Amino acid sequence: MTGDHHVMIGGKLLGRGLPILVQTMYDSAMPHEIHELEQLVRRIGTLNSMGCDIIRFSYPTEEDHESFAYLCKRSPIPVVADIHFDYRLALDAIACGCQKIRINPGNIGARWKVDEVVKSALDNHVAIRIGLNSGSLPKGNDPVPKLMSDTALEYLDWFEQAGFTNTVVSLKASDTDLTLEANRLFARESDYPLHLGVTEAGSVVSAITRSTWALGQLLSEGIGNTLRIRITGDIETEVQAGVELLRTLGLRKKGIRVVSCPRCGRHSFDSQGFLQSVERELLTIDKDLTVAIMGCQVNGPGEAKSADLAITGIGNSIFLYEKGKLVRKVEKSEAKQALLEAIDHAE
Ligand code: SF4
Repeated sequence: MTGDHHVMIGGKLLGRGLPILVQTMYDSAMPHEIHELEQLVRRIGTLNSMGCDIIRFSYPTEEDHESFAYLCKRSPIPVVADIHFDYRLALDAIACGCQKIRINPGNIGARWKVDEVVKSALDNHVAIRIGLNSGSLPKGNDPVPKLMSDTALEYLDWFEQAGFTNTVVSLKASDTDLTLEANRLFARESDYPLHLGVTEAGSVVSAITRSTWALGQLLSEGIGNTLRIRITGDIETEVQAGVELLRTLGLRKKGIRVVSCPRCGRHSFDSQGFLQSVERELLTIDKDLTVAIMGCQVNGPGEAKSADLAITGIGNSIFLYEKGKLVRKVEKSEAKQALLEAIDHAE
C-alpha cells in the first residue's frame, strides 16, 4: 500500500488517507503572447473547476522561461515542469517558481547533475516526480516490472542521500499488465506516493477503457495518490475521465453526477444532443447532485426517480422533474437555461 510517506506539492499534500489528485498535461507549445497566456490561465481555471488538481507543462527550452514563470505565478493549481535530458532546464524551471518537476534521473546523465537538481528542489521546497516508463529503463536482466520498481528505489536512495524525500514515483507502460505489476511491486517495497497512468493509451474510447481497467484495480487496492488518464484528445476530457473514475470508486464526492438514458426507438427528446450542449457546464458545478437526462416521457421520469433532477420532452415541450415530480414545463429553446436554474436552486 502506498502513501504513508507524505509529499507536498504547492499547497497540496499527498499520502495515505488524503484525496487522490487528478492531473493533466498541457498539450501544446507554451504560448508567449500575454493574451494567450491569460487565455491559458482561464483555461486552467476551468480545468480546476472540473476537478483538475495539478497541471504539467513540457519545459523544453529556456526561451519559455518568462511564459512559464507567468503561469507558475498565475495558475490556480500547482504547476509541474516536465524535464528531459538537460539538468539546467530543471534548475531554470525551479527558478520560474514551479511546484514540482518531473524527471527520469536516468536521462539526466551524470549523478552530480541529478544531485544539483535535487539540491535546488530541496532549497526551494519543490517536489520531484521520478517518472519511469517501460521504454526508458537502464539495461538489466530482470523482468521489466522488477527493473522498473528497483530502478525507482535506487533513485529514491540517491535522493535520500541528498536529504530529499519530497518525491513521487510513476511507473508507466502502454501495456496494462506491466503497469499493474510494476506498481504493485513498488507498493510492496516502498511507501512513497505513486502517480498512476497508462502511457500511449490511444484515443478516447481505448484510453479510458485501458486506463480505468488498470488504474481502477490499483486504486481499489489502495495503490496510487495521483493519476492522469492519458488520451490522444483534449485535456478537458482527460480531467473528466479522471474525476469520473474517482467518483465511480467512491474516492471523490463533489460534482454533478449525470445519468442519461442510452436512447431507443421510443425517444422523443434528443438526450444525446442536449447532454453534449450542457455537459461541460455541468462538469464545473460544485454541487453534489444527480441529474438525469432522459429520452422520453413514457419511461424517462420513472427510470430517473432516484435522480435529484431530471429532464425530458416531447417535440417542443420540455419537462423538468425534481425527485421524480414534474415541476416545470418549458420550450425546447429554454431547456438548458431551465436545467441550470434548477441546479442553481437545488439544495
Ligand atoms: S428513457 Fe425512453 S428513450 Fe430512453 S431508453 Fe428508456 S424508453 Fe428509451
